[in-house]
Amino acid sequence: MSQNNITSKFLQRAKEILGPAGFIDDIADMDSYLSDWRGRMKGDAPFVARPANVEQVSQFMALCSEYGVSVTPQGGNTGLVMGGLPDGEVLLSTKRLRGVRNVDPLNDSVTVEAGIILAELQELVAKEGRLFPLSLGAEGEAQIGGLISTNAGGVAVVKYGMMRDLVLGLEVVMPDGRVWDGLTALRKDNTAYDLKQLFIGAEGTLGVITAATLKMLPAPAVKMVSWLCVESPAKAVELLAMAKAETGGAVSSFELMPKIGVDFVMEQIPDARNPHPDAKSPWYILMEISFPREEGAREVMETLLEKSMEAELVTDGVLAESEAQAFEIWKVRETLPLAEKAFGKAVKHDVSVPVSLLPEFIERANERVYKIAPQANIISFGHVGDGNMHYNVAPPEGMNDVQFGENFGSELTEAIHDLVCEMNGSISAEHGIGTMKRDELAERVSDVELDMLRAIKKALDPDYRMNPGKVLSEI
Ligand SMILES: Cc1cc2nc3c(=O)[nH]c(=O)nc-3n(C[C@H](O)[C@H](O)[C@H](O)COP(=O)(O)OP(=O)(O)OC[C@H]3O[C@@H](n4cnc5c(N)ncnc54)[C@H](O)[C@@H]3O)c2cc1C
Repeated sequence: MSQNNITSKFLQRAKEILGPAGFIDDIADMDSYLSDWRGRMKGDAPFVARPANVEQVSQFMALCSEYGVSVTPQGGNTGLVMGGLPDGEVLLSTKRLRGVRNVDPLNDSVTVEAGIILAELQELVAKEGRLFPLSLGAEGEAQIGGLISTNAGGVAVVKYGMMRDLVLGLEVVMPDGRVWDGLTALRKDNTAYDLKQLFIGAEGTLGVITAATLKMLPAPAVKMVSWLCVESPAKAVELLAMAKAETGGAVSSFELMPKIGVDFVMEQIPDARNPHPDAKSPWYILMEISFPREEGAREVMETLLEKSMEAELVTDGVLAESEAQAFEIWKVRETLPLAEKAFGKAVKHDVSVPVSLLPEFIERANERVYKIAPQANIISFGHVGDGNMHYNVAPPEGMNDVQFGENFGSELTEAIHDLVCEMNGSISAEHGIGTMKRDELAERVSDVELDMLRAIKKALDPDYRMNPGKVLSEI
């Protein structure tokens, strides 16, 4: 699928543009770039290009255009749908694009290059007394360019939105090497089409994002974290509505976990502590509320918890009394995917439906799963606050996970994705399409939508050289 007219002249010119630190073709040195985060798949590339600035990206992309060479951009390589792994293309890593170009506290904006890691950005913004609210498990590795290219979500979407909601402007190197300077810091700009939106979530198929201007938000004065027992997802959704109303929209995280998932964490993660060991609830909620002021925050929180118990939405719970306790509660949620692994590779689904339909979705999905694999362990957890569930189906105890995947994997996924589509949901809530969901995307979207997607790709990447094989298999 990739075009690789790599000649010795091309290689010589690539080396001249990139310099010794920007060109890797040693197999061992390329290994970390070519293995996916979960270690399940290997990519293949003639070499890794590591440009140090936008000029080098531009010159390198122009060279690739001249020779008809295909390119796969890569950031922190934490993506979960194989979007950043090349299949014979040149891998263009943004690791060396590390500049902080501007911080403007009065405009509440910051401009950084694509290779800045999310945790670094959070720290930089915190020094200004502000918040960069995007937060997810891979924040120590995922880079700004990759997070924008996958329109990342995470645990605070309920209050702050996804990456798309945090981007003001972009700088992009196009497949032919031209630089689009769209680095505006404007909150109002109605001049024609909003081009940056095309590149957000495009998974590297339209151009290379080299820098972004991002929003800074007011930092909360206090965050209160609670661990709440609920009888059902329906009660959780009602609790969310109550919490939003009682706190004036200050709910910043609202994560649902089933008992089986919490039990896995306690069995598998040595230093994890159950926030409420005596409670035997079928479901748990991690609720974080971010208050702009300390005064009155505790009272609001206590009133909310009292009301939720009176309304029989919450049966029991714990309010973290210290940062350490809040950390322990978060640890249960964050280590759940790791703990789940110990029970074998699950058939995973990253799906969303409107929040109000989540309880119905879980019930109907469970029915379908048990018809296909009656003994399966269903671990559905995630970002209930924004309607996104990680609906994972693990093998029954004693069954080999590979055998489980082979016997039931595709049937389970088809049944769950059918249901998602019947409920007007999404088969990719936050991880993207990559190669993993590419063929399914083409089958499930309408003809008119597929035509528009292909037309955009054709207009911006007419030679089909930008991350070919990802998102769309043809144009
Ligand atoms: C433990 C863990 C937890 C996670 N939790 C979440 C979560 O809660 N929410 C969520 O949304 N995601 C989550 N993810 C997925 C992942 O972190 C995101 O997809 C992240 O945005 C990828 O960033 P990256 O820099 O690693 O990009 P990569 O994995 O390197 O690339 C991802 C895609 O973006 C493209 N790309 C990368 N950089 C550029 C660029 N500069 N220009 C153009 N295209 C580019 C690549 O070609 C690829 O298609 C999680 C991943 C892990 C490992």
